[in-house]
Amino acid sequence: MFKGTDKQKQYLEVLIKERVYSGELSVEQHLTAATRGGVSAFLEKIDSSDKASMLIEELIAKPRILNFKQTSIAPSGLSFSSAENPPIGIHSYNDVIYKVQASRQDENRLYAKKLTLIKKEGVFSASWEYVGRKPFPNLSSETLVDLTAAKKFGLTFGVCVVCGRGLTDEKSIEAGIGPVCAGKM
Ligand SMILES: [Zn+2]
Repeated sequence: MFKGTDKQKQYLEVLIKERVYSGELSVEQHLTAATRGGVSAFLEKIDSSDKASMLIEELIAKPRILNFKQTSIAPSGLSFSSAENPPIGIHSYNDVIYKVQASRQDENRLYAKKLTLIKKEGVFSASWEYVGRKPFPNLSSETLVDLTAAKKFGLTFGVCVVCGRGLTDEKSIEAGIGPVCAGKM
């Protein structure tokens, strides 16, 4: 029986479909063995939460199956992880805003932060929460937020989608974004 959390299960279902996997627990083999069960039969064999997180980590490190665009343009010699990185910038996926940025220690190491809006006395403020590489499978050039969408966000919430700060300057409030952050887009 699957013993991980529901979140782990959902995430694994996505990863298994998206990633090339050939490890000890070969998805291929299990899928063939469990002809009717498919992915769920495979997941039944994950009998602890630790095993589930190990598998998640292993799968994240694998190349994506349906990612020809990014892997084909990646210069040779690039590791899989950099070939799979989504573009740096602000992304929107399933109504959640993510900021993808490079680590200060290693510019090839990208991670994401998730924006959370808090409403207090009718005014929104934002905070960024570190989410690592977790959202990467869902982020691509297609989820990048463009200037129009960034302005719309700013006009709706009074918060800059790029830096998460409240818009205070009158011109910035009207535009939905300040000149500095608009220049970063
Ligand atoms: Zn800003």
